[in-house]
Amino acid sequence: MLDILEKEVFPYVDKPARYIGGEVNSIIKGHEGRTKLALIFPDVYEIGISNLGLKILYHILNKIDEIVCERAYAPWPDMEDKLRELAIPLYSLETKTPLNKFDILGFSFQYELLYTNFLNILNLSGIPFRTVNRGEDDPFIIGGGPVSGNLEPVAHFLDAICVGDGESCIVEITIKIREGRQENKSRLKILESLSEIKGVYVPSLYSESTVNGYVIPEGKKVRRRIEPDLEKIDFITRQIIPNVQAIQDRAVIEVARGCTRGCRFCQACFTYRPVRERSVATILKLARQTVSETGYRELSLISLSISDYSSLNLLINKLDEQFSPHGISFSLPSLRLDSFNSELAVKIKEIRKSGLTFAVEGGTQAVRDYINKGVNEDDLLSVINIAKNEGWKSVKLYFMIGLVKDGVAEETMGIAGLVKKISSLVPGIMITVSVAVFIPKPHTPFQRHRQLSAKDGKDEFSRLIDNIKKNKRINVRYNNPYMSYLEGIFSRGDRRLSLAIEQAYARGARFDGWNEKVNLALWEEAFIAGGIDPEFYLREIDADSPLPWDMIEMGASPLFLEQELERSNSGSLTKDCSSACEDYCGNCDFDEISPRLAGSYNENIAGPAEEFLPEVLISSKPLFLGRLLYAKKREMKYISPTDFEEIMSRALIRADIPVCYSSGFNPHIRVESMWALPAGFESDYEVLEIELSRDMGSDEFFARLLPVLPSGLQFKGLKIFPFPYTKINRLAKDHFISFDFDSFIDYKTVESKLAASGNYVKKTPKSEKIINLNDFVRTLSSDEGKIICDYYQIEGGARIQDIIDGITGYGVRKAVTLNPRVIERYILKNDVKISIFDV
Ligand code: SF4
Ligand code: SF4
Repeated sequence: MLDILEKEVFPYVDKPARYIGGEVNSIIKGHEGRTKLALIFPDVYEIGISNLGLKILYHILNKIDEIVCERAYAPWPDMEDKLRELAIPLYSLETKTPLNKFDILGFSFQYELLYTNFLNILNLSGIPFRTVNRGEDDPFIIGGGPVSGNLEPVAHFLDAICVGDGESCIVEITIKIREGRQENKSRLKILESLSEIKGVYVPSLYSESTVNGYVIPEGKKVRRRIEPDLEKIDFITRQIIPNVQAIQDRAVIEVARGCTRGCRFCQACFTYRPVRERSVATILKLARQTVSETGYRELSLISLSISDYSSLNLLINKLDEQFSPHGISFSLPSLRLDSFNSELAVKIKEIRKSGLTFAVEGGTQAVRDYINKGVNEDDLLSVINIAKNEGWKSVKLYFMIGLVKDGVAEETMGIAGLVKKISSLVPGIMITVSVAVFIPKPHTPFQRHRQLSAKDGKDEFSRLIDNIKKNKRINVRYNNPYMSYLEGIFSRGDRRLSLAIEQAYARGARFDGWNEKVNLALWEEAFIAGGIDPEFYLREIDADSPLPWDMIEMGASPLFLEQELERSNSGSLTKDCSSACEDYCGNCDFDEISPRLAGSYNENIAGPAEEFLPEVLISSKPLFLGRLLYAKKREMKYISPTDFEEIMSRALIRADIPVCYSSGFNPHIRVESMWALPAGFESDYEVLEIELSRDMGSDEFFARLLPVLPSGLQFKGLKIFPFPYTKINRLAKDHFISFDFDSFIDYKTVESKLAASGNYVKKTPKSEKIINLNDFVRTLSSDEGKIICDYYQIEGGARIQDIIDGITGYGVRKAVTLNPRVIERYILKNDVKISIFDV
């Protein structure tokens, strides 16, 4: 399989590194005797690889000897085309095993616009969409993730759904399927056994009735699975390091799960309660381990509401104390206005590099009270003043439109008025207003609200922009209202929508969560073809109408949701439950499940273990230059030079090499890859230079570095030069490159093609120019089916891909199929060859 991929697929797709696997910290286990599970994120690699939930499950599953867990992501359309053209099934990254050979495929649904990608993955794997059409040997298709509270639109496609926290649930599902298959149980019997697991919903076991226009599944209720104590969950510190820059290109530490605040629109709040925090000591330990095992220089502290973490000041002080000296920074997601203060601002400034983001949600006090946001204008003013005084030049504020039933224009004008007022009272700070249409979500007090139409949403965004546009210190960004429209339909959708998803898929819908990919006209056609009125799903729902997700108990009781709705109508607030449970929501039993704050653990906040990166220090001065000679093969040949420098920076940290940082706002490790080759070209002769604070000698250097390197890299030598040193790309800026490639035409033809390439058109992304390839080629020969060429590499001259193209007619992509390989780089002194590494 790998051979076909290398020859027929990777050369022709963008970012082939998305599909090669072999990343540092990925796990390869033998399949024999093990139950095979593939975790799938139905979006592109760069997004999926960032997902914390999948990282945790991958780690937990692979720790169990009987289970082997691998990964797959949605192929980008160019990859999909190639797979279809060559009839190659979609495969797992680890062992390139076709997905239909797995026992279980576990899909993570982060939001509702991934459904056509989900079908595409099934189709590319030759697996029937509908559970009723699957055979005994087909894999079990399991869904989970943040939208597990209502996966009804894809219920006909899922064999089982893991509702709520996935850690214990997915393990129990896998074991049950393993036992069922070992005992030769039928698929139906296995599904019945899955339905006995706490938190597992098996849609095909439910009958259906239609009430008030909704398809309502009927059967036993399924209560969400909750992991009661995060301290007891095995968190993944050996996080996979992607081959392509990820959307969240940093390590992540889950600080807490759940939120105490109770904003009435917030699905995550009501479906992840109660709050469960990790202790400061555990977070520090996990952070140290994660940095040591990944080499990331930035860690993201993940929680629904990070500024509500009950020991935040202590945590930040400790993080600053233990990590800043090593150049490790932290990022915090969106902050709450009412928990941001001067002390926090000073600390945050020290440990983070990015801007400040606050979720305000509503422009007027009435709207903020309606949604139980519990913040006021003074909070906002105070926060912006603090941010400005502490040196921030900009802040980002999130708002929603369409929260209240009537008066959407007033909502919009409220946002405009608020931000203009802040901008005039706090001049000198740039405000970015990010606004989206409110989408009512299941299991929240607002689950029966109507959603603003896409057109109305667009009109309101225009109104906001018109009102603000004269103010040069306010930017407005908005979410595509047509995507919110689709998301709204599927958020509160029922099983009937499966018809529309199939129709949209058949018409070519893919990546519906991508602005540049979503095609609304196609969806409109799909709704008509499926006999569905999409507006039906956006309307206000009668208070007494049953809901398609009623059989899922996410935690908050129907009575509590009703009370919250009444309170919102009267503008009264519900208390945060961090210190006491004054308004019981239904999530806790106060026995096994209750809020757990960091302070409740017996803390031992000892300093870092002495061995924590003693050589990686931001204060180190560059006193030596390390020049490394290396070969890049297999996976590594697909990595871009920028991604390669990142991969190497992280390897150097993991190895605790005495690296140095650049100065400036965003310090980076002084490591430089000297020359760039096109993706897919191998090389036996590349040079990397690293600035060091200590001459550690090559034995110690390699003893530390080699064990942590990604596969496909081979180091051949190290030279250390004391300061002052000259970089190799200055010493040998212009040099000769010796390379070879597989020949498919006879040598005479190659020679004559070169002779005729006096007017070769060299193309770059920005320009074209005519060059004579003969001016650059020094020698050309053939040996055992290979063409060997030495040419002069000079700025503006011929490149390796130009020469191959000139003598074979193979452009850079197709040239990869000829296995091009750099053999050596050298200069000539008095006609004597001197290898660059020896210059
Ligand atoms: S603070 Fe509000 S919006 Fe944020 S997670 Fe908590 S409940 Fe949701
Ligand atoms: S039951 Fe009480 S303490 Fe538990 S999550 Fe609900 S409101 Fe908070």
